[in-house]
Amino acid sequence: MTELDDRLALLAGQAHEWAAELRTHALEVDADPSAVQRLTHLDTLRWAGSLQVPPEYNPHPLVIRGHRFHVMSALERVVFVEEGAWGDAGLTLGAPGAPMAGVLVNTLGSAEQKEWFFSRVLERPTWTFFALTEPGHGSDPGRMETTVTGASQEGPMTLTGAKRFVGNAARGDIGVVFARTGPGPLGLAAVLAESGTAGFRAEPIETTGLRGAQLGAITLDSVEIPADRMLGRHLKPVQRGMRGWLRTFNVVRPTVAAIGLGLSRAAVEYVRTHRRSLRATERDRLDAMERRIRAVRALTHRAAAAVDHDPDQGHLASAAKVSSGRMAEEVTLAAREFFPAGARLDHPLLDKLIRDARGLEFMEGTRDIQRLNLFNAMSRGAFGPTGAAVSR
Ligand SMILES: Cc1cc2nc3c(=O)[nH]c(=O)nc-3n(C[C@H](O)[C@H](O)[C@H](O)COP(=O)(O)OP(=O)(O)OC[C@H]3O[C@@H](n4cnc5c(N)ncnc54)[C@H](O)[C@@H]3O)c2cc1C
Repeated sequence: MTELDDRLALLAGQAHEWAAELRTHALEVDADPSAVQRLTHLDTLRWAGSLQVPPEYNPHPLVIRGHRFHVMSALERVVFVEEGAWGDAGLTLGAPGAPMAGVLVNTLGSAEQKEWFFSRVLERPTWTFFALTEPGHGSDPGRMETTVTGASQEGPMTLTGAKRFVGNAARGDIGVVFARTGPGPLGLAAVLAESGTAGFRAEPIETTGLRGAQLGAITLDSVEIPADRMLGRHLKPVQRGMRGWLRTFNVVRPTVAAIGLGLSRAAVEYVRTHRRSLRATERDRLDAMERRIRAVRALTHRAAAAVDHDPDQGHLASAAKVSSGRMAEEVTLAAREFFPAGARLDHPLLDKLIRDARGLEFMEGTRDIQRLNLFNAMSRGAFGPTGAAVSR
């Protein structure tokens, strides 16, 4: 699916036009991530805030030549995010809206929870957080220490613990926090939280790449959570725990691959724009990079279509994340070699692309974890050793 159909091509074209504006603010946000809050008038940020909200809650989708876009499918998200990341990956990740938390709420939330969450997102530019990773033991749910107590009673619950490396944490109004109700895989839960509640503290962490996302550390000191804010309380424990979370990761992972596509394209384009004349070998090298980008895009689109068809089928999404992350690192570093020594000082935008590409490795699970996902899927018989789907 390298060629987009007419409808998706319209979305890509619109997102591309908007994303050009992001580029003009990229270095400003890199220097000061809080600048994002002053840029909500930019079209990408304005629309990111209201897209990715289900049609039942958003009567005003993006309309392009009669086509309505809520940007809810993984494929639409991938198309939108690749263009945004081509403009600036940090600003795309730092946009208001509910790119990750919204997927989980839509997967697990009751009608009331969805109404509460999405109406808050649409009210005004609202940043949301998706707080899973913890200090010391990262994003492994098995080792999660944050607790939510009182879930079985009628009264409010209490959330206690700490989270780290959470995107938009310090600017977030609402979001989801993952916590334990008890030991074992059935003792995992996600609750809807508001940053304004007593005991909730969030502060930014200094990072080298993707600075617009303003990763943050959250401290939860006996935060009171209303009883009806546990996601999927209406579902069986087995449905509201890991299974629902894994579906969310599967749906979101192709968009992380899309960021790698946008970064790689921006790096190749940077070379073509800033080098007046290229030797034949250099042209060949750039052409090869573009062929690689097209191949990884085809894989990413296939991965997105696969999770749109069945959100439990995340192995192609893992393959796309591995391929795209590695490509973004290699292409952005290779782009530096087209310029004399000191390129990273003389070309701050290129230096930023290199730093941003490194940040992808730790988003949504490292390459090792994605390879583990692939191995597990292969062991289950989801596909054969050559990558071909196994027919049953
Ligand atoms: C830009 C950015 C945005 C982020 N946004 C969020 C967010 O919004 N919310 C959130 O909660 N977190 C977020 N994170 C954190 C991110 O999800 C985690 O850092 C990431 O999942 C890696 O997990 P970890 O820190 O636990 O590292 P680990 O999983 O501990 O990995 C550490 C090292 O050990 C290796 N490793 C770990 N387990 C295995 C294994 N079983 N086999 C082989 N090797 C292994 C890894 O490959 C890696 O090299 C973000 C991170 C970045 C960089």
